[in-house]
Amino acid sequence: MELPRNVSVLISRLEQAGFSAYAVGGCVRDSLLSLTPHDWDLCTSALPAQMQEVFRGEHVVETGLKHGTLTVVLDHIPYEITTFRTDGAYTDHRHPDSVTFVQDVAGDLARRDFTINAMAYSPRCGLVDLFGGREDLSRRVIRCVGIPRERFGEDALRILRALRFASVYDFSIDPDTEKALRLLAPSLEKIAAERIREELLKLLCGPGAGRILRGFPDVLCCVIPELRPMIGYDQQNHHHSFDLWEHTVQAVENVPPQADLRLAMLLHDTGKPAVRTLDDRGEAHYFGHQAVSAEIAERVTDALRCDRETRDRVVNLVRWHDIPLRTESGAVNLDRSFLLRRLNRFGEKDLRALIEIHRADRIATGYSSREREDRRTAERMAALDALLAENPCFTLKDLAINGRDLLALGFRGPAVGEMLNRLLEAVMDGQIPNEKEALHNFVTSFTKI
Ligand code: ATP
Ligand code: MG
Repeated sequence: MELPRNVSVLISRLEQAGFSAYAVGGCVRDSLLSLTPHDWDLCTSALPAQMQEVFRGEHVVETGLKHGTLTVVLDHIPYEITTFRTDGAYTDHRHPDSVTFVQDVAGDLARRDFTINAMAYSPRCGLVDLFGGREDLSRRVIRCVGIPRERFGEDALRILRALRFASVYDFSIDPDTEKALRLLAPSLEKIAAERIREELLKLLCGPGAGRILRGFPDVLCCVIPELRPMIGYDQQNHHHSFDLWEHTVQAVENVPPQADLRLAMLLHDTGKPAVRTLDDRGEAHYFGHQAVSAEIAERVTDALRCDRETRDRVVNLVRWHDIPLRTESGAVNLDRSFLLRRLNRFGEKDLRALIEIHRADRIATGYSSREREDRRTAERMAALDALLAENPCFTLKDLAINGRDLLALGFRGPAVGEMLNRLLEAVMDGQIPNEKEALHNFVTSFTKI
C-alpha cells in the first residue's frame, strides 16, 4: 500500500519519538479498493500533549483534544491524528459517555463501525486487519465489528452509515448486520438531523442507491416519515406500471448522482396519496400533487437542516418537476421562444435539471423506453447548448435597454418594470432584436398608440 509522502513523514515522526502510528479507517479502505482517499486520518499511541510536543513548530490545530484529535497541516493539507481510544457506554445512543485513551491499536480498531473501516496500516507493521476487513472488501460485504445489535444500539447513525457504504460501494450487507439494523432503525430518531442528512445524501448518490431504497424502505421511513404513504401504494393509473415507491426509486436512479437532484426525485411524488381522486372509470388522478409535494419537500429539507440553497432548489425542482417540455402535439419542444421563456423562468442550471428530471420520471413510468427518453433529452440539451452559444437575451439584465433609459423617456413608477418586461417578452419571441435603437423604437411606437 502506498502512502502519500506527508503521511509517511507524520507516521515516522511519531515513531521516532517512541510512539506507534498508523493510517486508519476510510483511507486504508479506499486504498485497498484502489480508490483515491479524499483524506488521510492517522491514529497513534501518543497522547494529545505528546503529539503537540512531537509536532511543535508545525501548523497544528486543536481539533478535539478531549477526544484525542489534533490536526497537523502540511503543505496546506490537514491531517487528523487521533490518540488510540476506546469508547465508554453510549447511554444516549449517540455519543460515548466518555473516551479512554489506550496504548494499543487493537482497542481503537474495535470501536470502529464496520470491518472495512477498521483496518490500520503503517509501513513498519503493514496492514493491521483484526476483523476480516480485507476479506469483506473482496466479498463486497458491509459487516459490523462485534455484535451488530450492540454496535447499532451504541450509535444509531451506524444504521444509516451501513446503508450508505452499501450504496456507495455497491456492496451487500451481512445478514446479521442487516437484521440488527432493521430492528434498531426506529432509534435513528435520536440522531441529529445534520448527521443523518450527510449519510442520506451520500447514500442517494451511490451506484447502489436504487437497490438500497428498494430493499430498506422501512429504514428510510424512520428518517423521512413522509415517504411512508408511498410504500406499496398502487397508482391505479394507466400511465404508470409500477407502484408509487418503485416509480420513485427508478426516478431517483435515473437522474445524475447529485444530491439535490436525487433528493428532489425522492420527494417529487410524496404529495400524490393526499390528493388522489378517482374518476368514474376507477382511474386515479393526482391533480395538484406537485404543490403538495413541494410543501412536503420544504418540511423534509428543513427537518434535515439542508442549507438554504439546497432547500430552495429541491423545493423548486419538486414543484415544477412536471412542467411541460413538449408541444400540445407531443413533439419535443425546441422552439426558440419556448426555450428562452423556460430559461427566463428557471435559469440554465435548473432548466437542465428539469430536463433530466423529466427523462427520469418518464423512464420510471415503465411506459417509455430509455432509448426514446435519452434521444429526447439529448435533443433538448443540444437545442439549449446551441441557443446559449448565441448568448441570447432571456433576463431583464440582458436587455440592451434599462430602467434608466425608460426614466429618460418619461416612464415613472411601475410603468418602468411593466415596459421592461414587455420588451423582454418581445425580444424572446423574436419580434424585435435586442438592440438599443430597436428597443427604443418599440417603446416610442408603443406609447404613441
Ligand atoms: P468517508 O470516505 O466518507 O470519509 P470514512 O470511513 O472515512 O468515510 P468518516 O466519517 O470520515 O468515514 O470516519 C472515519 C472513520 O472513523 C471510519 O472509517 C470509521 O473507522 C470511524 N467511524 C466514523 N464514524 C463512526 C461511527 N459512527 N461509529 C464507529 N466508527 C466510526
Ligand atoms: Mg473520512
